[in-house]
Amino acid sequence: MQRVKIVGTLGPASSDPVLIRKLIDAGLDVVRLNFSHGDHEGHRRAYEWVREQAQAAGQHVAILADLCGPKIRAGRMAGGSVELATKAKVIVTTEDVLGTKDRFSTIYSSLPDDVHPGSRILLDDGLLELVVERIQGRDVHCEVVVGGSLKDKKGMNIPGTPLSTPALTAKDKADLLFAKELGVDFFALSFVRDPKDVLEAKALAGDTPVIAKIEKPEAVANLEDIVKAADGLMVARGDLGVEAGPEKVPLIQKQLIRAAGALGKPVIVATQMLESMMHNPRPTRAEVSDVANAVLDGADAVMLSGETASGQYPLEAVQTMSCIIREMESSDLFEHLPRPMPLVEYTFSNAIARAALGAADTLTLKAFAVYTESGHSAELLSSCRPMAPIVAFSRHDHILRRLALRWGVLPMHADWVHGVLGVVEQAERKLLEHGVAKPGDDIAVTFGMQDLSGPGRTDVLKLWRVRG
Ligand code: PGA
Ligand code: MN
Repeated sequence: MQRVKIVGTLGPASSDPVLIRKLIDAGLDVVRLNFSHGDHEGHRRAYEWVREQAQAAGQHVAILADLCGPKIRAGRMAGGSVELATKAKVIVTTEDVLGTKDRFSTIYSSLPDDVHPGSRILLDDGLLELVVERIQGRDVHCEVVVGGSLKDKKGMNIPGTPLSTPALTAKDKADLLFAKELGVDFFALSFVRDPKDVLEAKALAGDTPVIAKIEKPEAVANLEDIVKAADGLMVARGDLGVEAGPEKVPLIQKQLIRAAGALGKPVIVATQMLESMMHNPRPTRAEVSDVANAVLDGADAVMLSGETASGQYPLEAVQTMSCIIREMESSDLFEHLPRPMPLVEYTFSNAIARAALGAADTLTLKAFAVYTESGHSAELLSSCRPMAPIVAFSRHDHILRRLALRWGVLPMHADWVHGVLGVVEQAERKLLEHGVAKPGDDIAVTFGMQDLSGPGRTDVLKLWRVRG
């Protein structure tokens, strides 16, 4: 069993149920629907394929709807692209014009209000750079600092300039309500700046968890409060690298993983992990090291974007990721992953989780079998990164799918049974069936007996030697 999970983005290269099934069989745990691209009908089709194929594969696969947030873009260019020469003058306007080398548009209507002379405008993942010289009505006059060719609708970043745009745009709200209606398991919110952004999305998302994508330096500055407000983090290294500078990304990645872990929230490391596999069946050594280091940093999950959405080798990318993860997980270094500080939480579940971890340190437990209604008991164990697999038993499939993102958790459907022996025997049978334990292995089974309401109600730790 793989502890670190794989998130993969669907797109034109993977809009095919047969391939989706192969990706699931290769180890895809969470599917990302990217609302920056595609339309609702396309996302609905992909959603249904994933549900059907996961069921056929007998896997609990989560679906994450990634909301594009206030992503700023340039408009269309005459002939599809224009050449911006270094040191040339160019106007960025909020008027709707077809772009030329002298003047092109942006969809961001507040641009002239938000920038000032000296502001830097980066285009196409930071490949091109402009500096603002003056603002005149709806026109922002710039000088090209780093030129190049600018294609239609490329992304625009304005690092260091606080933007007045709301975190949830009208499109995000419509996408969120659509995806909620579909029944997605997670939302991710792009360009979060402060906890209010997350809370606004959560108010609409209801019970569905919201992951904050950290891709702006402001978010890093407000990290602690954002982790508290959100249900998880994504290290969104693409835009983060543009906004903060690529050299800042490795340490921010470690900082985010630590901050999320300290509060028991999951964290996904994203973007360009196997970028060259867009066009090659094999990754570069540097990419392999990057995935390996994310595993050693303690991430819950690693993510593929273009590699699975629009690359030539989507299946090979998932297989490669899985192969790297398994190699790392069999190393000594992995066994000494930093264990985050235990959560300070006054609940029976927390006390039982600590007791189970203690038992695992004293004995050589083969697995934790955790009965969970809300998922919380499994999450408490996961956040401590124990070496034995955490088999999460629940009668709620939506909870099992959420747990698919969690480090070390193997979600398994289980019926509601009564009595200590009934619970333990079901766990024993399922672990044997799935080859997680064999006769003679010692396991810890945790569950709730007293009828308490709400999460935190796990109150029994039962040690058990698996019978033949
Ligand atoms: P995106 O987010 O792929 O939606 O831009 C991830 C990132 O910026 O790294
Ligand atoms: Mn981004």
